[in-house]
Amino acid sequence: KNPSRQEALVYYRRVAEHFHLNLRQYEMVESISGAEGSFVLKTRKMYGREKEYEATRVVVATGGFHAPNMLEVPGEELPKVLHYYREAHPFFDQEVLVVGGSNSAVEASLELFRGGARVTMVHFLDKLDKGVKPWVVPDITNRLEQGDIRVYWEHRVVEITPEAVTLRDEETGNLTELKNDWVMALTGWQPNPTLLRGMGVEIDQTTGIPSHDPDTMETNVPGVFIAGVLAAGNNANKIFIENGRAHGGQIVQAIIGRAAGHP
Ligand SMILES: Cc1cc2nc3c(=O)[nH]c(=O)nc-3n(C[C@H](O)[C@H](O)[C@H](O)COP(=O)(O)OP(=O)(O)OC[C@H]3O[C@@H](n4cnc5c(N)ncnc54)[C@H](O)[C@@H]3O)c2cc1C
Repeated sequence: KNPSRQEALVYYRRVAEHFHLNLRQYEMVESISGAEGSFVLKTRKMYGREKEYEATRVVVATGGFHAPNMLEVPGEELPKVLHYYREAHPFFDQEVLVVGGSNSAVEASLELFRGGARVTMVHFLDKLDKGVKPWVVPDITNRLEQGDIRVYWEHRVVEITPEAVTLRDEETGNLTELKNDWVMALTGWQPNPTLLRGMGVEIDQTTGIPSHDPDTMETNVPGVFIAGVLAAGNNANKIFIENGRAHGGQIVQAIIGRAAGHP
């Protein structure tokens, strides 16, 4: 059985405690300068206090969920349009449109349905994305087939107003207006390239993948490594927990190997 989000988070907390990880929470790294052997990291804490750290090497693992892919339709700026899903309870007895067909959209739709929301999904393809977790597929398929969650395949959102949304059929161009309280636009996110670019790490214009050696995870800047979903660039579905966690071992091996005099 796969662990739930709750179980996974408890596990991570235990790992942090067990290994006495030196975590600096609620502290944003704003810049990294210098070179291998003498990097300087400037950070800012929640209420603005600045700090500075020195490091021989740096591993950047800032994730792939920095900025949402926008729908770019009129009304997207309304406060009822959300690009991050947290929990279902605020949406009890509400009309919620979930945009997207990947893991985020599927998991949010199921939770929202179970939290008492009236959920409609809209996806521009004619089926769910291939990357949807196999153990979630039967549940969402059943909910869609039984009409517990409504779905508009091959439709796109074209307009959002305070009380409605308008969808366009990709094939016919026909428009459908739905009564709506909330739009959960879960259409993917992009990593933040600022830190890496600031250090001189090259990032592929098309894929968003930072230049790196896949064996060592070291970037084109000596002493700067990347780990986790950040290494997948704009396609967050390529690296997930199961394969991203291998990066730690690869990086440690590369550093130990170098210390032992191997190239
Ligand atoms: C809905 C959903 C379900 C998923 N389910 C699964 C699953 O079942 N199994 C699976 O393997 N994967 C799953 N994934 C993917 C998984 O969440 C990611 O692969 C994983 O979180 C990536 O880990 P990461 O450490 O690379 O990045 P993240 O988890 O995004 O962590 C990056 C961290 O860096 C911090 N950060 C960013 N910038 C800075 C900065 N400048 N200074 C300081 N800190 C910073 C962020 O706040 C964040 O805490 C799922 C993803 C989604 C969206």
